[in-house]
Amino acid sequence: MGEFCLDCWNKINETHDSKWRYAFSWEKDLCEECGQYKHVIVVERVWSRVQRALAEVIEDIQK
Ligand SMILES: [Zn+2]
Repeated sequence: MGEFCLDCWNKINETHDSKWRYAFSWEKDLCEECGQYKHVIVVERVWSRVQRALAEVIEDIQK
């Protein structure tokens, strides 16, 4: 799997995933799609439905 930032990941997969779904690189890394240094997705978080729902609530609050 290549390394992609969330924006490119969603574009490639035609999804609108929340950033909470993924764990990102600690340091900025080169996104293979847009060629910019960004935090790239390292792994999809394996979360329970409850955790995911909580994360979405938190994200809504932060908007
Ligand atoms: Zn990108």
